[in-house]
Amino acid sequence: DGSSDTRAFAAFRSVTDLRARGGAVRIHGISKSFGTLKVLDDVELNLPAGSVTAIIGPSGSGKSTLLRSINHLERVDSGFISVDGKLVGYTQKGEVLYELKEKDILKRRTDIGMVFQNFNLFPHLTVLENIIEAPIQVRGVSRDEATAYAQELLARVGLSDKIDAYPRQLSGGQQQRVAIARALALRPKVLLFDEPTSALDPELVGEVLDVIKELARTGTTLVIVTHEIGFAREVADSIVFMEGGHVIEAGTPTQILNDARHPRTRAFLAKVL
Ligand code: ADP
Ligand code: MG
Repeated sequence: DGSSDTRAFAAFRSVTDLRARGGAVRIHGISKSFGTLKVLDDVELNLPAGSVTAIIGPSGSGKSTLLRSINHLERVDSGFISVDGKLVGYTQKGEVLYELKEKDILKRRTDIGMVFQNFNLFPHLTVLENIIEAPIQVRGVSRDEATAYAQELLARVGLSDKIDAYPRQLSGGQQQRVAIARALALRPKVLLFDEPTSALDPELVGEVLDVIKELARTGTTLVIVTHEIGFAREVADSIVFMEGGHVIEAGTPTQILNDARHPRTRAFLAKVL
């Protein structure tokens, strides 16, 4: 009932406020339906600051909806989420225990970067303009400062020579590396990747994964939905297997990929490995 939700939230909040900063993501009992379809069902996750989490699972299992919920692009029906110590919380009946104001949600989205399957670069802007747009518009950073940081980020993703190119002049892999640089330009504490290599020709996948691997060493909390199981093994601190809106199993790459306990995890891995 409502009062046990309230007590659970108070407990969640007390732990969160003390410890869940620095890019930590805590998710407690979140559920989300579209009409009669329950897409997330009582999802529980705790991602320490600076950790790298890979989310795997079949199509339609709720992976994108989970990422969108972390970024407040979806409002969950019930449960609690905290990202970097900022909370939202709803009762089982959908009553608001704590909700971010619209202005705070917009602020959140600049602290939480997201990289999509289809790059989503602005086609009419150059690489540099794509990267400096948000820091200037949203953060009020000066053009000079934003440009200097964009140059540094482009060097990191190996695209210094493309600074004045337009997206259409780049390969898919290059576009995705620009999209990563653009997300990093806001200095996010959490970076969410939704199948960042799924739209790429196979020979371009490696260059994008290499950039993400490098990022994994920088202390930004990364959450990566991916079908690249070998990559997940190499880069992730933990792997989460989702199916039918549930987190079926989560653990270290060795636990999940070599020694899964749940038959559904094993069945999925047998198909993709
Ligand atoms: P995944 O990323 O694991 O493939 P999604 O989170 O995209 O899964 O989707 C989970 C389920 O929710 C799918 O059945 C999908 O069709 C449905 N779904 C996702 N977004 C919406 C929406 N905005 N409206 C209705 N159904 C949706
Ligand atoms: Mg998806």
